Amino acid sequence: MITERDEAGSDADDEEAQVIVVGAGPAGSAAAVHLARAGVDVLLLEKSGFPREKVCGDGLTPRSVYQLVRMGVDISAPGWMRNKGMRWVCGGDQVELDWPQLGSLPDFGLTRSRHDFDDLLAAHARAAGARLHTRVKVTAPLTDRAGNVTGVTATRGPGQEPVRYRAPLVVAADGASARTALALGLERDASRPVAAAARRYYRSEARTNDPYLELWADLRCPNTGLDLPGYGWVFPLGDGRVNVGLGALPQRQRRAVDLRAALEHWLPRLPAHWGLREENADSSLRSAPLPMGLNRRPQYRRGLLLVGDSAGMISPWSGEGIAEAMEAAEVAAEIIALALARPAGPRREHALQQYPAEIHRRWGRYYRLGNLAADLVFSRYGFRPLLHPRVMASPPLLRTLARLLTHGTDEPVHDGIDAVLHALVRLVPARRR
Ligand SMILES: Cc1cc2nc3c(=O)[nH]c(=O)nc-3n(C[C@H](O)[C@H](O)[C@H](O)COP(=O)(O)OP(=O)(O)OC[C@H]3O[C@@H](n4cnc5c(N)ncnc54)[C@H](O)[C@@H]3O)c2cc1C
Repeated sequence: MITERDEAGSDADDEEAQVIVVGAGPAGSAAAVHLARAGVDVLLLEKSGFPREKVCGDGLTPRSVYQLVRMGVDISAPGWMRNKGMRWVCGGDQVELDWPQLGSLPDFGLTRSRHDFDDLLAAHARAAGARLHTRVKVTAPLTDRAGNVTGVTATRGPGQEPVRYRAPLVVAADGASARTALALGLERDASRPVAAAARRYYRSEARTNDPYLELWADLRCPNTGLDLPGYGWVFPLGDGRVNVGLGALPQRQRRAVDLRAALEHWLPRLPAHWGLREENADSSLRSAPLPMGLNRRPQYRRGLLLVGDSAGMISPWSGEGIAEAMEAAEVAAEIIALALARPAGPRREHALQQYPAEIHRRWGRYYRLGNLAADLVFSRYGFRPLLHPRVMASPPLLRTLARLLTHGTDEPVHDGIDAVLHALVRLVPARRR
């Protein structure tokens, strides 16, 4: 875990590296792991000290597990809670859907509080060789006269002493605030809504060892009477607690949903013996934005690469962002390592331009379809139409839906569901980057 000696770095000003990573969430720590493993001298700067809270549902689907395994994180150690799949609850029905047996992804998910998860991943980055400095708040990118990034300015330590760090490449992994990207003029696409989500921990012996991630699709907004344009969750943590929350797109006319009111309306519907009542609350209710649908582009400009929430990489299908953050981080790290093997100048620049191209190749059409589904369905009616009683009664339809929502496909095509989903995504016209 992270120790005092990581705090604020050395006394020397203008510390240098080949790559600076801003933010040690899943995106930043994963980028640092992959860069360090590729032999790149990487400096990971984090404004907080570890361990720290991060508002999240703490749910990890097989795509996240895949990334953890690729990084060599020991997921058999104590503290990881495995799950078999998802349980969807809607209109008085419920179905359990096991994670699919795919050749390319694990067949289980995990949960782990972000309090532990981020600490562990940052320590993993340091063990891989990254220099981690905590309590360093990056204030802006440094640029040369041509506008190319040459490092970052920051404040460090309790006295907020100003400091500069230099590197020819910077990875912005600073989350939803996207401060580093904004400083370089990379604005969010305002046509894309930003969802919001809130979570609270409860002590619940009845649910803490549930083998499924439970999701509720028939919730209402009590102040408007409309369907919640999102869903609720109860995720088991295996340590006596559950993570309970709601995520929602803005309602029609872009009005934000009152998540607290919706949660207070929902919880009394849950069985009393689950214990999700005030007296068992283990935290306050906290919320945060969900930047989704690849809402900040391009993901590379003038020496700055965006990964994770800073690039709006949360899936519009599910609200999941950890897997996407770690996967994009690996792509970015590989492209950076190859780019650094070229001399600075147009040839290196050409290599770095491959990053947005690769993100677009992997996710462009899938996210575009998801953005459409979010606009036309989720933001108006939530997930209830997808979980129509006929769908709930049809295992093949349900399995297809679950794999669409969680991006659970094999490539090359392995079964009929893969074939359907690949064909569906291929129908989406590619967007100009
Ligand atoms: C309520 C809620 C529930 C969610 N549930 C899930 C879920 O169950 N599963 C899932 O996959 N996703 C979930 N998400 C989404 C997920 O939390 C994010 O997609 C994910 O954290 C993105 O990782 P990141 O590394 O890009 O950003 P973050 O996790 O936000 O990390 C950014 C890091 O950068 C640091 N930082 C910020 N600014 C600076 C600065 N100026 N200088 C230095 N450091 C800085 C921050 O302190 C932080 O450590 C949820 C989100 C919310 C809000």
